[in-house]
Amino acid sequence: MGGHIPESGADARPPKEKAPGPWRAGRETLRHHDGRGMRDRPGRAGKGSMPKVAVIGAGIAGVTTAYQLLDSGAEVTVIDRHAHPAMETSFANGGQLSASNAEVWNSWGQVWKGLKWMLRADAPLLLRPAPTWHKLSWLAEFLRAIPRYEQNTVTTARLAIEARAHLLDMAEREGIDFDMVRRGILHVYRDKAGLDHATRVTALLRQGGLERDPVGPAEIAAIEPTLGGEFAGGFFTPSDFTGDIRKYTAGLARAVRRRGGTVRLDTEVLSAAADGAGVELGLRRDGATGRERFDAVVVCAGVGSRRLAALLGDRVNVYPVKGYSVTVNLHDDESQAAAPWVSLLDDAAKVVSSRLGPGRFRIAGTAEFAGEDRDIRDARIRPLVAWCRRHFPGVSTRDVVPWAGLRPMMPDMLPRVMPGRRPGVFYNTGHGHLGWTLSAATARMAADLVMGHGAGRRLHPVAPAKVA
Ligand SMILES: Cc1cc2nc3c(=O)[nH]c(=O)nc-3n(C[C@H](O)[C@H](O)[C@H](O)COP(=O)(O)OP(=O)(O)OC[C@H]3O[C@@H](n4cnc5c(N)ncnc54)[C@H](O)[C@@H]3O)c2cc1C
Repeated sequence: MGGHIPESGADARPPKEKAPGPWRAGRETLRHHDGRGMRDRPGRAGKGSMPKVAVIGAGIAGVTTAYQLLDSGAEVTVIDRHAHPAMETSFANGGQLSASNAEVWNSWGQVWKGLKWMLRADAPLLLRPAPTWHKLSWLAEFLRAIPRYEQNTVTTARLAIEARAHLLDMAEREGIDFDMVRRGILHVYRDKAGLDHATRVTALLRQGGLERDPVGPAEIAAIEPTLGGEFAGGFFTPSDFTGDIRKYTAGLARAVRRRGGTVRLDTEVLSAAADGAGVELGLRRDGATGRERFDAVVVCAGVGSRRLAALLGDRVNVYPVKGYSVTVNLHDDESQAAAPWVSLLDDAAKVVSSRLGPGRFRIAGTAEFAGEDRDIRDARIRPLVAWCRRHFPGVSTRDVVPWAGLRPMMPDMLPRVMPGRRPGVFYNTGHGHLGWTLSAATARMAADLVMGHGAGRRLHPVAPAKVA
């Protein structure tokens, strides 16, 4: 123990020579941390005054946080247990950057649907009955957040709109090709009840600053001519767009390294302790363990955030809500012509789809409450392939790549961007079903919090409670 674990892994940089700076000089230089940010003291500006910040997690939340921290002048090390960035939930999601999907799920309507669907193996939402304390406490908090449904939907829409500009700015500055398609997102509904509900949601989205247009069946056919099926109507959001989250995250991780940050892969965080003078992480790589000190840590560990938060004395009740996707490889001209370019959200089936360049079509959906279970189940993949065949019969499903991922979801569906109870501890996690859509905004907020810049905006409607 006690050794320094050098960085490695396919995406790692060679170890850097670390110049001793006042942020690492010990207790004295860190005492100014005020529980809100690592704000420089007067007279400390300039060379060597960069706080040394660890970001745990190289998914979309961690990598965007690292990039924004570098922009703010921090010395950043991203740590992840996988050999590459974006190997967990940020690998093959629905691909949507969808302010129009900002509605939180905390409503009695969703609860009744969930109960009904419990009886169907292929239902879009599945609550596996085995009770655990984690699941029960999460569900209880989910129900308690129902009165905040409207407020949280508006907040989510605002964040999603704010995120767009940051996301596009980072992609442009760093020249990241992520198969972006800017043709809007079309929500389709099969019956009047669905449409009526969507009309009420549209009013909330408008409060959040998002305009989306009601469309009838003829307009649906005009917006996306390849889409087959009977629909009562829909809503079209031209300002939403899509892309490949893994390509984006991996491209941004390369930019983090180019800009002087460190991305340390194949490295698992085993322990974390904050003592007022900084944060000490216990790390394991290649079977070897060691410890390393940082001035601050930002936990962006997806479904791993709950455990790390507990180690740091905080409660962040992220639950893994499992979802699935299939990526249909479009090998022939006929399949390419028969697949849609406009991104879709089929409300009744709870399915989203995105075109990832000419050769790939992604379909994603389902929400399964089954704990940290990463198995890809045939019964959950089949409905996604069947949806493709039903609505796009000209697309060959001969070559389909299935995937499952765990949405790091808070009970009230809002991410947590906040300081922990102990100095030097911060969170940017719990983005649930909208991690890519929101991450560029929450990363900016997290960087400001850590650095003590601006008003210190945070997202923690329920104050973090002490772990017993
Ligand atoms: C089927 C599906 C469809 C989705 N569709 C969309 C969509 O269309 N649009 C959208 O915006 N969002 C969508 N989402 C949600 C989005 O993908 C997630 O919110 C987002 O990817 C979460 O990113 P993250 O960085 O928080 O977590 P992750 O990507 O899981 O990253 C967390 C990282 O932390 C690392 N880690 C954890 N613990 C440790 C430890 N102890 N030591 C070292 N490393 C650790 C993990 O290895 C992992 O790489 C979808 C999700 C699913 C499952």
